[in-house]
Amino acid sequence: MKLKEIGEFGFIDRFAGLFGSLVPDNIKGIGDDCAVMPLDEHDDMIITTDMMVENTHFLSDKITPFQLGYKSLAVNLSDIAAMGGTPVASFLSLAIPVNTDVEYLDEFIRGFKVLSEKYNVPLLGGDTTRAPEKITVNVCVLGKCVKNKAILRSTAKAGDIVCVTGYLGDSSAGLKASIEGITGSEDTEYLISRHYLPVPRLEEGKLLASAPGVNSMMDISDGLASDLKQILKASGKSAAVDIEMLPLSPGLIRTCADKGWNTFDLAVSGGEDYELLCTISQENYEDVKTRFRMEFKKELFRIGTVSDGVPMIKWTKRNKTIDVNNKGFDHFL
Ligand code: ADP
Ligand code: MG
Repeated sequence: MKLKEIGEFGFIDRFAGLFGSLVPDNIKGIGDDCAVMPLDEHDDMIITTDMMVENTHFLSDKITPFQLGYKSLAVNLSDIAAMGGTPVASFLSLAIPVNTDVEYLDEFIRGFKVLSEKYNVPLLGGDTTRAPEKITVNVCVLGKCVKNKAILRSTAKAGDIVCVTGYLGDSSAGLKASIEGITGSEDTEYLISRHYLPVPRLEEGKLLASAPGVNSMMDISDGLASDLKQILKASGKSAAVDIEMLPLSPGLIRTCADKGWNTFDLAVSGGEDYELLCTISQENYEDVKTRFRMEFKKELFRIGTVSDGVPMIKWTKRNKTIDVNNKGFDHFL
């Protein structure tokens, strides 16, 4: 059997359970944005790692080294945000071809450092090796969150409202614009920066984790369709999402109208927006939404509802069920 027949998640499912007996009850291992371990009487420690491979995650003639350094840390901080945590330290491992310009690497480190300083996350170690041809970057981030308050994927409840913290589809539109060389307008620059310089929603994640009724959370890295499905699979629940409720940025709407791109395909299946996806109990939803608006001067967007049932998403438009191309990103399918 080839990897492409089972995909990334099929592969992870094959081995995730094999280590279960080695994982103590008070540790949360494979299956969430971060692993969670007890730290002290007040906090838990959370740990995540994410890799960026040249020609798979980035094209070196499109992304600048500054952006690559920034983004390789940002995607890890996003996983910390997804638990409602605070980042504490990072580790950086690099595999680099021998003929790489040192100035390129200096710029990479500058991008990494700008974000490290913004969130006060020191780089504490890593590894550097020679690569045959292409650059690979792996980052690990340690963080902490209030004891037993990390928000997991596996605890969505029937009746919860499904919410996202910001616009969907911008990042994949930005990638498309960058690859097709559609640059220069304010809208395309906005979309392209959403792709190359994503903002980890750390403050939003902390507020959501501290609010009563936020039952499950993750960050959107592979696309709404794929990522919401992960929450549903982990929680054993079903959901309905109204595609007309999906938040679309004015820049995305104008660019899609201009280029003939489908906004909903991008918002449903496009990855790397790094917004947070959460489910909130109905009785707490209005309070959380109000707190979120007061704190961040922006909306927490309601897009659907969780129900009992098999883990799948029913996509609706004006109360009618519709078919959408609901594949998110998988490295091997
Ligand atoms: P995320 O997109 O939040 O980084 P992924 O979808 O990449 O999460 O991974 C899903 C889960 O599988 C995570 O808990 C991650 O730690 C785990 N995982 C992925 N690849 C591996 C691996 N090679 N070994 C162990 N765990 C893995
Ligand atoms: Mg994640």
